[in-house]
Amino acid sequence: MADPIYHLAQERRLVTALPGPRSKELAARRDAVVAKGVSSSSPFYVAQADGGVLVDADGNSVIDLGAGIAVTSVGASAPHVVHNVQEAVANFTHSSFATTPYEGYVAVCEQLAELTPGTFAKKTVLVNSGAEAVENAIKIARHATGRAAVAVAENAFHGRTNLTMALTTKAMPYKVGFGPFAPEIYHFPSSNPFREPEPITGEQAAQRAIDYLETTVGADHLACLLQEPIQGEGGFIVPAEGYLPTLQAWCHEHGIVFILDEIQCGFCRSGKWFACEYEGVEPDLITTAKALGGGLPLAAVTGRAEIMDSAQAGGLGGTYGGNPISCAASLGAIETMKEWDLPARARAIESAIRSKVGPLVGSGSVGDVRGRGAMMAVEFVKPGTKEPDAARAGQVASELLHEGVIVLTCGIYGNCVRFLPSLTIPADLLDEALDLFVAAASR
Ligand SMILES: *Cc1c(COP(=O)(O)O)cnc(C)c1O
Repeated sequence: MADPIYHLAQERRLVTALPGPRSKELAARRDAVVAKGVSSSSPFYVAQADGGVLVDADGNSVIDLGAGIAVTSVGASAPHVVHNVQEAVANFTHSSFATTPYEGYVAVCEQLAELTPGTFAKKTVLVNSGAEAVENAIKIARHATGRAAVAVAENAFHGRTNLTMALTTKAMPYKVGFGPFAPEIYHFPSSNPFREPEPITGEQAAQRAIDYLETTVGADHLACLLQEPIQGEGGFIVPAEGYLPTLQAWCHEHGIVFILDEIQCGFCRSGKWFACEYEGVEPDLITTAKALGGGLPLAAVTGRAEIMDSAQAGGLGGTYGGNPISCAASLGAIETMKEWDLPARARAIESAIRSKVGPLVGSGSVGDVRGRGAMMAVEFVKPGTKEPDAARAGQVASELLHEGVIVLTCGIYGNCVRFLPSLTIPADLLDEALDLFVAAASR
Protein backbone atom coordinates (compact mmCIF):
# COMPACT_ATOMS: atom_id res chain seq x y z
CA MET A 1 0.00 0.00 0.00
CA ALA A 2 1.22 3.52 -0.81
CA ASP A 3 1.70 5.94 2.08
CA PRO A 4 -0.41 9.11 2.36
CA ILE A 5 1.06 12.33 0.97
CA TYR A 6 0.71 15.49 3.09
CA HIS A 7 1.21 19.16 2.25
CA LEU A 8 0.77 20.49 5.81
CA ALA A 9 3.19 19.60 8.62
CA GLN A 10 1.55 16.82 10.64
CA GLU A 11 2.10 18.38 14.05
CA ARG A 12 0.31 20.03 16.98
CA ARG A 13 1.62 23.58 17.05
CA LEU A 14 -0.02 26.21 19.24
CA VAL A 15 0.96 29.83 18.54
CA THR A 16 -1.80 31.63 20.51
CA ALA A 17 -4.01 30.85 23.48
CA LEU A 18 -7.00 28.82 22.22
CA PRO A 19 -9.14 30.12 20.65
CA GLY A 20 -6.92 32.83 19.19
CA PRO A 21 -7.83 36.47 18.48
CA ARG A 22 -8.81 35.92 14.83
CA SER A 23 -11.14 33.02 15.75
CA LYS A 24 -12.69 35.18 18.50
CA GLU A 25 -13.24 38.01 16.03
CA LEU A 26 -14.99 35.63 13.63
CA ALA A 27 -17.10 34.25 16.48
CA ALA A 28 -18.32 37.77 17.25
CA ARG A 29 -19.27 38.40 13.59
CA ARG A 30 -20.99 35.02 13.53
CA ASP A 31 -23.08 35.78 16.63
CA ALA A 32 -24.66 38.71 14.83
CA VAL A 33 -25.78 36.82 11.73
CA VAL A 34 -25.75 33.02 12.12
CA ALA A 35 -28.84 31.38 13.62
CA LYS A 36 -28.33 30.04 17.16
CA GLY A 37 -29.74 26.63 16.20
CA VAL A 38 -26.60 26.07 14.11
CA SER A 39 -23.95 25.16 16.67
CA SER A 40 -20.23 24.40 16.45
CA SER A 41 -18.59 22.15 19.03
CA SER A 42 -15.11 23.63 18.49
CA PRO A 43 -14.08 27.32 18.67
CA PHE A 44 -11.51 27.18 15.84
CA TYR A 45 -12.21 28.88 12.52
CA VAL A 46 -10.55 26.74 9.86
CA ALA A 47 -8.07 28.05 7.32
CA GLN A 48 -6.48 24.79 6.07
CA ALA A 49 -6.70 21.08 6.80
CA ASP A 50 -4.80 17.99 5.67
CA GLY A 51 -4.24 14.47 7.03
CA GLY A 52 -4.69 14.59 10.80
CA VAL A 53 -4.35 18.36 11.29
CA LEU A 54 -6.39 21.48 10.92
CA VAL A 55 -4.79 24.93 10.84
CA ASP A 56 -6.99 27.66 12.26
CA ALA A 57 -7.37 31.32 11.36
CA ASP A 58 -4.63 32.22 13.87
CA GLY A 59 -2.11 29.71 12.53
CA ASN A 60 -2.57 27.12 15.28
CA SER A 61 -2.18 23.57 14.01
CA VAL A 62 -4.53 21.31 16.00
CA ILE A 63 -5.02 17.54 15.87
CA ASP A 64 -8.39 16.73 14.37
CA LEU A 65 -10.11 13.61 15.70
CA GLY A 66 -13.47 14.59 14.19
CA ALA A 67 -12.76 14.74 10.44
CA GLY A 68 -15.81 16.92 9.85
CA ILE A 69 -18.01 14.21 11.42
CA ALA A 70 -16.43 11.25 9.62
CA VAL A 71 -16.46 12.99 6.24
CA THR A 72 -12.82 13.65 5.40
CA SER A 73 -11.70 10.03 5.77
CA VAL A 74 -9.10 10.56 3.03
CA GLY A 75 -8.03 13.87 4.58
CA ALA A 76 -9.46 17.32 3.86
CA SER A 77 -7.20 18.09 0.90
CA ALA A 78 -6.10 14.72 -0.51
CA PRO A 79 -4.26 15.13 -3.85
CA HIS A 80 -6.67 13.02 -5.99
CA VAL A 81 -9.68 14.87 -4.63
CA VAL A 82 -8.15 18.32 -5.12
CA HIS A 83 -6.99 17.46 -8.64
CA ASN A 84 -10.35 15.99 -9.72
CA VAL A 85 -12.30 18.93 -8.30
CA GLN A 86 -10.08 21.54 -9.93
CA GLU A 87 -10.36 19.81 -13.28
CA ALA A 88 -14.13 19.31 -13.03
CA VAL A 89 -14.94 22.82 -11.87
CA ALA A 90 -13.04 24.30 -14.81
CA ASN A 91 -15.12 22.20 -17.23
CA PHE A 92 -18.65 22.83 -15.92
CA THR A 93 -20.04 23.52 -12.46
CA HIS A 94 -23.53 22.11 -12.98
CA SER A 95 -25.94 20.96 -15.63
CA SER A 96 -28.47 18.93 -13.56
CA PHE A 97 -28.48 15.20 -14.19
CA ALA A 98 -32.27 15.59 -14.48
CA THR A 99 -31.85 17.57 -17.70
CA THR A 100 -28.44 16.94 -19.24
CA PRO A 101 -26.53 13.94 -17.83
CA TYR A 102 -22.75 13.48 -17.54
CA GLU A 103 -20.21 10.70 -17.00
CA GLY A 104 -19.20 11.44 -13.37
CA TYR A 105 -22.65 10.50 -12.04
CA VAL A 106 -22.62 7.18 -13.88
CA ALA A 107 -19.03 6.45 -12.78
CA VAL A 108 -19.91 6.97 -9.07
CA CYS A 109 -22.90 4.61 -9.46
CA GLU A 110 -20.58 2.01 -11.06
CA GLN A 111 -18.22 2.28 -8.07
CA LEU A 112 -21.13 1.91 -5.63
CA ALA A 113 -22.43 -1.17 -7.49
CA GLU A 114 -18.98 -2.74 -7.27
CA LEU A 115 -18.01 -1.78 -3.71
CA THR A 116 -21.23 -2.25 -1.71
CA PRO A 117 -21.95 -5.75 -0.33
CA GLY A 118 -23.77 -8.28 -2.51
CA THR A 119 -23.05 -9.62 -5.99
CA PHE A 120 -26.62 -9.08 -7.25
CA ALA A 121 -27.47 -6.39 -9.85
CA LYS A 122 -27.57 -2.97 -8.15
CA LYS A 123 -28.70 0.52 -9.04
CA THR A 124 -28.16 3.88 -7.35
CA VAL A 125 -29.73 7.32 -6.97
CA LEU A 126 -27.43 10.19 -5.94
CA VAL A 127 -28.64 13.00 -3.65
CA ASN A 128 -27.08 15.79 -1.57
CA SER A 129 -27.16 14.78 2.08
CA GLY A 130 -27.44 11.79 4.34
CA ALA A 131 -30.94 12.70 5.45
CA GLU A 132 -32.04 12.95 1.84
CA ALA A 133 -30.59 9.49 1.15
CA VAL A 134 -32.53 7.97 4.07
CA GLU A 135 -35.74 9.71 2.93
CA ASN A 136 -35.27 8.30 -0.55
CA ALA A 137 -34.55 4.78 0.71
CA ILE A 138 -37.89 4.85 2.53
CA LYS A 139 -39.72 6.31 -0.47
CA ILE A 140 -38.30 3.53 -2.64
CA ALA A 141 -39.10 0.76 -0.12
CA ARG A 142 -42.70 1.98 0.22
CA HIS A 143 -43.14 2.18 -3.53
CA ALA A 144 -41.65 -1.27 -4.09
CA THR A 145 -43.71 -3.01 -1.39
CA GLY A 146 -46.94 -0.98 -1.48
CA ARG A 147 -46.73 -0.88 2.34
CA ALA A 148 -46.49 2.14 4.64
CA ALA A 149 -44.95 1.16 7.98
CA VAL A 150 -41.28 1.73 8.76
CA ALA A 151 -39.41 -0.10 11.55
CA VAL A 152 -36.40 1.71 12.94
CA ALA A 153 -34.00 0.90 15.78
CA GLU A 154 -34.08 2.82 19.03
CA ASN A 155 -30.98 5.02 19.64
CA ALA A 156 -30.97 5.70 15.88
CA PHE A 157 -29.89 8.90 14.20
CA HIS A 158 -30.88 9.40 10.56
CA GLY A 159 -30.98 13.18 10.08
CA ARG A 160 -32.79 16.46 10.67
CA THR A 161 -35.48 16.66 7.95
CA ASN A 162 -39.08 15.98 8.90
CA LEU A 163 -39.13 12.27 8.03
CA THR A 164 -35.64 11.65 9.44
CA MET A 165 -36.44 13.52 12.68
CA ALA A 166 -39.26 11.03 13.11
CA LEU A 167 -36.73 8.20 12.65
CA THR A 168 -34.17 9.70 15.04
CA THR A 169 -34.76 8.90 18.71
CA LYS A 170 -32.68 11.54 20.52
CA ALA A 171 -35.08 14.30 21.53
CA MET A 172 -32.54 16.96 22.50
CA PRO A 173 -31.42 18.71 20.40
CA TYR A 174 -32.85 17.00 17.33
CA LYS A 175 -36.62 16.89 17.90
CA VAL A 176 -37.83 19.08 20.76
CA GLY A 177 -40.22 21.73 19.42
CA PHE A 178 -39.91 20.64 15.78
CA GLY A 179 -42.97 18.34 15.45
CA PRO A 180 -45.44 17.10 14.40
CA PHE A 181 -43.52 14.21 12.91
CA ALA A 182 -44.27 11.82 10.05
CA PRO A 183 -46.59 8.90 10.91
CA GLU A 184 -46.11 5.12 10.50
CA ILE A 185 -42.69 5.03 12.15
CA TYR A 186 -42.16 2.27 14.77
CA HIS A 187 -39.07 2.17 16.99
CA PHE A 188 -38.06 -1.30 18.07
CA PRO A 189 -35.66 -2.22 20.90
CA SER A 190 -32.24 -2.81 19.36
CA SER A 191 -29.02 -4.44 20.57
CA ASN A 192 -26.97 -2.36 23.02
CA PRO A 193 -24.54 -4.77 24.72
CA PHE A 194 -23.20 -2.31 27.34
CA ARG A 195 -26.69 -1.43 28.55
CA GLU A 196 -28.51 -4.78 28.53
CA PRO A 197 -29.76 -5.51 32.06
CA GLU A 198 -28.61 -9.13 31.55
CA PRO A 199 -26.17 -10.23 28.84
CA ILE A 200 -28.10 -11.57 25.83
CA THR A 201 -26.96 -12.90 22.44
CA GLY A 202 -27.43 -11.01 19.19
CA GLU A 203 -30.04 -13.57 18.13
CA GLN A 204 -31.99 -12.95 21.36
CA ALA A 205 -31.80 -9.18 20.87
CA ALA A 206 -33.07 -9.58 17.30
CA GLN A 207 -35.88 -11.89 18.49
CA ARG A 208 -36.92 -9.22 21.03
CA ALA A 209 -37.15 -6.71 18.17
CA ILE A 210 -39.06 -9.15 15.97
CA ASP A 211 -41.56 -10.03 18.75
CA TYR A 212 -42.14 -6.33 19.34
CA LEU A 213 -42.73 -5.60 15.65
CA GLU A 214 -44.93 -8.65 15.08
CA THR A 215 -47.16 -7.82 18.03
CA THR A 216 -47.38 -4.03 17.63
CA VAL A 217 -47.21 -3.50 13.84
CA GLY A 218 -47.47 -6.85 12.02
CA ALA A 219 -44.77 -8.04 9.61
CA ASP A 220 -47.09 -7.77 6.61
CA HIS A 221 -47.55 -4.04 7.12
CA LEU A 222 -43.87 -3.20 7.16
CA ALA A 223 -42.31 -1.66 4.06
CA CYS A 224 -38.81 -1.68 5.51
CA LEU A 225 -36.58 -2.08 8.52
CA LEU A 226 -33.85 0.53 8.98
CA GLN A 227 -30.73 0.11 11.10
CA GLU A 228 -27.23 1.58 11.37
CA PRO A 229 -24.79 -1.40 11.54
CA ILE A 230 -22.84 0.69 14.08
CA GLN A 231 -25.06 3.33 15.64
CA GLY A 232 -23.28 6.68 15.26
CA GLU A 233 -24.80 9.60 17.15
CA GLY A 234 -26.40 7.02 19.47
CA GLY A 235 -22.94 6.25 20.89
CA PHE A 236 -21.00 4.01 18.49
CA ILE A 237 -23.03 1.02 19.55
CA VAL A 238 -21.89 -2.20 17.89
CA PRO A 239 -24.79 -4.69 18.04
CA ALA A 240 -24.09 -8.15 19.46
CA GLU A 241 -22.93 -10.74 16.93
CA GLY A 242 -25.85 -12.48 15.24
CA TYR A 243 -28.24 -9.54 15.62
CA LEU A 244 -27.99 -8.15 12.07
CA PRO A 245 -28.12 -11.54 10.27
CA THR A 246 -31.21 -12.57 12.29
CA LEU A 247 -33.03 -9.33 11.43
CA GLN A 248 -32.06 -9.73 7.79
CA ALA A 249 -33.41 -13.29 7.62
CA TRP A 250 -36.72 -12.21 9.19
CA CYS A 251 -37.05 -9.29 6.73
CA HIS A 252 -36.50 -11.62 3.78
CA GLU A 253 -39.04 -14.09 5.05
CA HIS A 254 -41.71 -11.35 5.19
CA GLY A 255 -40.89 -9.25 2.13
CA ILE A 256 -39.62 -6.36 4.26
CA VAL A 257 -36.91 -4.26 2.61
CA PHE A 258 -33.79 -4.48 4.81
CA ILE A 259 -32.07 -1.07 4.78
CA LEU A 260 -28.70 -0.40 6.38
CA ASP A 261 -27.63 3.19 6.97
CA GLU A 262 -23.83 3.22 6.48
CA ILE A 263 -23.65 7.00 6.19
CA GLN A 264 -21.23 7.28 9.13
CA CYS A 265 -19.70 3.79 9.38
CA GLY A 266 -19.32 3.11 5.63
CA PHE A 267 -16.49 3.75 3.20
CA CYS A 268 -13.56 2.22 5.12
CA ARG A 269 -14.32 3.92 8.47
CA SER A 270 -15.05 0.65 10.32
CA GLY A 271 -11.93 -1.13 9.03
CA LYS A 272 -13.82 -2.73 6.14
CA TRP A 273 -15.37 -0.98 3.16
CA PHE A 274 -18.76 -1.41 4.87
CA ALA A 275 -19.41 -2.31 8.50
CA CYS A 276 -22.03 -4.94 7.63
CA GLU A 277 -19.27 -7.01 6.01
CA TYR A 278 -18.14 -8.04 9.52
CA GLU A 279 -21.16 -10.35 9.62
CA GLY A 280 -21.53 -11.08 5.91
CA VAL A 281 -24.81 -9.15 5.82
CA GLU A 282 -26.01 -7.86 2.44
CA PRO A 283 -28.69 -5.19 2.78
CA ASP A 284 -31.39 -4.79 0.11
CA LEU A 285 -30.73 -1.03 0.18
CA ILE A 286 -27.73 0.79 1.64
CA THR A 287 -27.46 4.53 2.29
CA THR A 288 -24.07 6.24 2.05
CA ALA A 289 -22.93 9.87 2.41
CA LYS A 290 -20.25 11.50 4.61
CA ALA A 291 -16.92 9.95 3.38
CA LEU A 292 -18.48 9.13 -0.02
CA GLY A 293 -18.09 12.69 -1.28
CA GLY A 294 -14.48 13.21 -0.18
CA GLY A 295 -15.61 16.39 1.61
CA LEU A 296 -18.16 17.59 -0.94
CA PRO A 297 -21.89 17.04 -0.41
CA LEU A 298 -22.90 13.72 -1.93
CA ALA A 299 -25.12 10.89 -0.74
CA ALA A 300 -26.57 7.77 -2.28
CA VAL A 301 -29.11 5.00 -2.05
CA THR A 302 -27.79 1.82 -3.64
CA GLY A 303 -29.62 -1.46 -3.78
CA ARG A 304 -31.18 -4.39 -5.54
CA ALA A 305 -32.02 -3.32 -9.08
CA GLU A 306 -35.61 -4.64 -8.92
CA ILE A 307 -36.37 -2.57 -5.79
CA MET A 308 -34.53 0.56 -6.97
CA ASP A 309 -36.26 0.42 -10.39
CA SER A 310 -39.73 0.32 -8.86
CA ALA A 311 -40.08 4.12 -8.62
CA GLN A 312 -41.47 5.82 -11.72
CA ALA A 313 -39.25 8.00 -13.94
CA GLY A 314 -39.02 11.48 -12.42
CA GLY A 315 -39.99 10.19 -8.97
CA LEU A 316 -36.43 10.31 -7.66
CA GLY A 317 -33.66 12.91 -7.86
CA GLY A 318 -33.50 16.68 -7.61
CA THR A 319 -31.86 19.76 -9.04
CA TYR A 320 -28.42 19.15 -7.54
CA GLY A 321 -28.35 15.41 -6.77
CA GLY A 322 -25.01 13.98 -7.96
CA ASN A 323 -23.55 17.41 -8.74
CA PRO A 324 -20.56 16.96 -11.12
CA ILE A 325 -18.02 18.49 -8.72
CA SER A 326 -19.16 16.19 -5.89
CA CYS A 327 -18.95 13.20 -8.23
CA ALA A 328 -15.41 14.15 -9.28
CA ALA A 329 -14.43 14.52 -5.62
CA SER A 330 -16.01 11.16 -4.80
CA LEU A 331 -14.12 9.35 -7.55
CA GLY A 332 -10.89 10.93 -6.23
CA ALA A 333 -11.73 9.86 -2.69
CA ILE A 334 -12.55 6.27 -3.71
CA GLU A 335 -9.28 6.04 -5.70
CA THR A 336 -7.42 7.29 -2.61
CA MET A 337 -9.16 4.74 -0.35
CA LYS A 338 -7.98 1.95 -2.65
CA GLU A 339 -4.46 3.27 -3.24
CA TRP A 340 -3.67 3.99 0.42
CA ASP A 341 -5.59 0.90 1.65
CA LEU A 342 -7.69 2.90 4.08
CA PRO A 343 -9.53 -0.11 5.56
CA ALA A 344 -6.15 -1.39 6.83
CA ARG A 345 -5.29 2.07 8.20
CA ALA A 346 -8.64 2.19 10.01
CA ARG A 347 -7.86 -1.16 11.66
CA ALA A 348 -4.44 0.14 12.76
CA ILE A 349 -6.18 3.18 14.29
CA GLU A 350 -8.51 0.85 16.22
CA SER A 351 -5.51 -1.06 17.64
CA ALA A 352 -3.81 2.18 18.71
CA ILE A 353 -6.98 3.42 20.45
CA ARG A 354 -7.63 0.07 22.14
CA SER A 355 -4.09 -0.19 23.46
CA LYS A 356 -3.94 3.38 24.79
CA VAL A 357 -7.52 3.91 25.98
CA GLY A 358 -8.75 0.35 26.58
CA PRO A 359 -6.92 0.00 29.94
CA LEU A 360 -9.00 2.90 31.36
CA VAL A 361 -12.19 0.78 31.36
CA GLY A 362 -13.51 0.22 34.85
CA SER A 363 -11.19 2.72 36.49
CA GLY A 364 -12.74 6.08 37.41
CA SER A 365 -15.42 7.28 35.04
CA VAL A 366 -14.65 5.26 31.89
CA GLY A 367 -17.41 2.64 31.58
CA ASP A 368 -16.78 1.31 28.09
CA VAL A 369 -14.50 1.64 25.07
CA ARG A 370 -16.08 0.32 21.89
CA GLY A 371 -16.47 0.66 18.17
CA ARG A 372 -14.73 -0.60 15.07
CA GLY A 373 -11.83 0.73 13.06
CA ALA A 374 -11.48 4.51 13.19
CA MET A 375 -14.93 4.80 14.77
CA MET A 376 -14.28 4.36 18.49
CA ALA A 377 -16.06 5.87 21.50
CA VAL A 378 -15.44 6.10 25.22
CA GLU A 379 -18.57 6.05 27.41
CA PHE A 380 -18.34 8.02 30.66
CA VAL A 381 -20.32 6.91 33.73
CA LYS A 382 -20.49 7.77 37.42
CA PRO A 383 -17.67 5.66 38.95
CA GLY A 384 -18.72 2.15 39.90
CA THR A 385 -22.12 2.42 38.11
CA LYS A 386 -23.53 2.55 34.59
CA GLU A 387 -25.20 5.89 35.26
CA PRO A 388 -24.37 8.16 32.29
CA ASP A 389 -22.08 11.11 33.04
CA ALA A 390 -22.49 13.65 30.22
CA ALA A 391 -20.82 16.41 32.25
CA ARG A 392 -17.63 14.34 32.51
CA ALA A 393 -17.58 13.62 28.75
CA GLY A 394 -18.13 17.34 28.05
CA GLN A 395 -15.36 18.32 30.45
CA VAL A 396 -12.81 15.93 28.90
CA ALA A 397 -13.74 17.10 25.38
CA SER A 398 -13.42 20.74 26.40
CA GLU A 399 -10.02 20.22 28.06
CA LEU A 400 -8.75 18.55 24.89
CA LEU A 401 -10.01 21.42 22.74
CA HIS A 402 -8.01 23.85 24.84
CA GLU A 403 -4.92 21.70 24.34
CA GLY A 404 -5.37 21.65 20.58
CA VAL A 405 -7.17 18.34 20.00
CA ILE A 406 -10.60 18.31 18.38
CA VAL A 407 -12.88 15.55 19.71
CA LEU A 408 -16.65 15.23 19.42
CA THR A 409 -19.13 13.86 21.91
CA CYS A 410 -22.09 11.59 21.12
CA GLY A 411 -24.44 9.09 22.72
CA ILE A 412 -28.12 9.00 23.48
CA TYR A 413 -27.15 10.43 26.91
CA GLY A 414 -24.43 12.69 25.45
CA ASN A 415 -21.89 10.90 27.65
CA CYS A 416 -19.50 9.51 25.02
CA VAL A 417 -16.37 11.02 23.51
CA ARG A 418 -15.85 9.72 20.01
CA PHE A 419 -12.73 9.34 17.91
CA LEU A 420 -13.27 9.74 14.18
CA PRO A 421 -9.92 10.82 12.76
CA SER A 422 -9.06 10.97 9.11
CA LEU A 423 -7.85 7.50 8.15
CA THR A 424 -4.66 9.15 6.92
CA ILE A 425 -3.67 10.51 10.36
CA PRO A 426 0.01 9.64 11.04
CA ALA A 427 0.45 7.10 13.87
CA ASP A 428 2.64 9.39 16.02
CA LEU A 429 0.14 12.26 15.82
CA LEU A 430 -2.70 9.93 16.84
CA ASP A 431 -0.61 8.66 19.77
CA GLU A 432 0.06 12.23 20.92
CA ALA A 433 -3.68 13.02 20.91
CA LEU A 434 -4.52 9.76 22.70
CA ASP A 435 -1.92 10.45 25.42
CA LEU A 436 -3.56 13.84 26.01
CA PHE A 437 -6.97 12.13 26.15
CA VAL A 438 -5.77 9.50 28.63
CA ALA A 439 -4.28 12.24 30.83
CA ALA A 440 -7.55 14.27 30.75
CA ALA A 441 -9.73 11.20 31.39
CA SER A 442 -7.52 10.12 34.33
CA ARG A 443 -7.44 13.51 36.10
C1 LIG B 1 -24.86 12.04 9.60
C2 LIG B 1 -25.82 10.94 9.47
C3 LIG B 1 -27.03 11.09 8.77
C4 LIG B 1 -27.48 12.41 8.22
O1 LIG B 1 -26.62 12.91 7.24
P1 LIG B 1 -26.70 14.47 6.83
O2 LIG B 1 -25.77 14.55 5.65
O3 LIG B 1 -26.24 15.24 8.01
O4 LIG B 1 -28.10 14.74 6.48
C5 LIG B 1 -27.84 9.99 8.63
N1 LIG B 1 -27.50 8.80 9.13
C6 LIG B 1 -26.35 8.60 9.81
C7 LIG B 1 -26.01 7.25 10.35
C8 LIG B 1 -25.48 9.67 10.03
O5 LIG B 1 -24.37 9.50 10.74
